Amino acid sequence: MARQKRSWAEPYRIKMVEPIRMTTRKHRENAIRTAGYNTFLLRSDDVYIDLLTDSGTSAMSDNQWAGLMLGDEAYAGSRSFYHLEEAVADIYGYPELVPTHQGRGAEHILSQILIKPGDVIPGNMYFTTTRFHQEYAGGEFVDIIIDEAHDATSTHPFKGNVDLDKLRTVIADAGAARIPYISVETNVNMAGGQPLSMANLRETYALCRQHGILLMLDATRALENAWFIQQREPGYAKRSVREILLEICSYSDGATVSSKKDNLVNIGGFLALRDPELARRARGLLVAFEGLQTYGGMSGRDMEALSRGIYEMVETDDHVRARVGQVEYLGNKLIAAGVPVALPIGGHGVFLNAQAMLPHIPQEQFPAQSLAAALYVDSGVRSMERGVVSAGRDPKTGENRHPRLELVRLTIPRRVYTQAHMDVVAESVEAVYAERDKIRGLTMTYEPEDLRFFQARFEPVSVTEVLPPRSRS
Ligand SMILES: *Cc1c(COP(=O)(O)O)cnc(C)c1O
Repeated sequence: MARQKRSWAEPYRIKMVEPIRMTTRKHRENAIRTAGYNTFLLRSDDVYIDLLTDSGTSAMSDNQWAGLMLGDEAYAGSRSFYHLEEAVADIYGYPELVPTHQGRGAEHILSQILIKPGDVIPGNMYFTTTRFHQEYAGGEFVDIIIDEAHDATSTHPFKGNVDLDKLRTVIADAGAARIPYISVETNVNMAGGQPLSMANLRETYALCRQHGILLMLDATRALENAWFIQQREPGYAKRSVREILLEICSYSDGATVSSKKDNLVNIGGFLALRDPELARRARGLLVAFEGLQTYGGMSGRDMEALSRGIYEMVETDDHVRARVGQVEYLGNKLIAAGVPVALPIGGHGVFLNAQAMLPHIPQEQFPAQSLAAALYVDSGVRSMERGVVSAGRDPKTGENRHPRLELVRLTIPRRVYTQAHMDVVAESVEAVYAERDKIRGLTMTYEPEDLRFFQARFEPVSVTEVLPPRSRS
């Protein structure tokens, strides 16, 4: 007799709780107006369920909290640094550790040591801070992700894959000498948390080696990528995520990691490398921008909790199964309700297809920004725009970039919310979708020069601008 398929449950029980409370609709209307219709500018006290980001919002374990007490705060040579160095070598396989305050600190150092003005850095879709640091160092980012990644309806199992033909073209056009490294992101954030396959990474690495180009991973969500490889790629079903993660990193020369994601801590990050000479150069800059080489931008207790988080995330496969399982639970609920979401459901969040949900709002009026504001007003659920606002302007032309994906991200913090919270979120999205005709577009009233999505302000477009043509007369 075939064994009955069992459902999974969170592999932990709750030892401490943090109260949250629902506000009134009137309160939320006021709050979002005060915040310039930008969910980044809301106060967290005004938020009921916070799905802004999975960055630094994880719940730590009892073992990690215990680690905080044991952190060694020595300025130099902290015991906690050596624990972290050992964890990164064990789990990611990199011998050289350069600790930073968070992911962008690592991106800054890496970009500064490798990129010269005029260089080209191919990557499988941009990430905001990653591209910022590449451009800040004088480089130019070129997108080499497969076309399917830009199509919210494509169900390709590995939408994070590098398009090797695009990479060959970039190498032929720019010349290998002008490409200091290629930047490969695992479980591509801006594509909706979509993995790349081991086969694709292996081939990309081989092509890079052939041309003498380094391959640097953004391994921020490599654990979630490893899970999808185990689930979807032939030959990996019986391998543990720990083994798969180590193999992923083996096809690279180094990695930047924001530990605020996979690694289950609230702050931290690192640059990890194989080449000691490159690491020496990185440490030279580290002292100026982050801190001494044995703490970077972290306290001893941060490093202690981080090293424990790194071991914990791969101790068994149960953690990542429940983590991605909860995201899929929310996604499948929305799919069942007919809400257009980006497919397949990714590893860290559910991405609402704002363009499909709000076809009456043109991209110049920021449909995803409008949808995020409307969802907040409905239920106090905080989400984030991932569309034309996040994409920013082209530094050469000054024009708005028009990404094909205009999404609202419902990002799930790790180990924080329950399935019941996911039910409430799904109900709110369905309610907003049912009333979508009432949602108006926005105009930007304040635009910061860099990474504008964090601080931009908006107001609703005037009613005459949005009435459909037939009712205007
Ligand atoms: C969050 C993130 C970063 C930046 O890391 P911070 O810790 O926020 O500075 C870089 N890359 C990816 C893919 C991320 O998700």
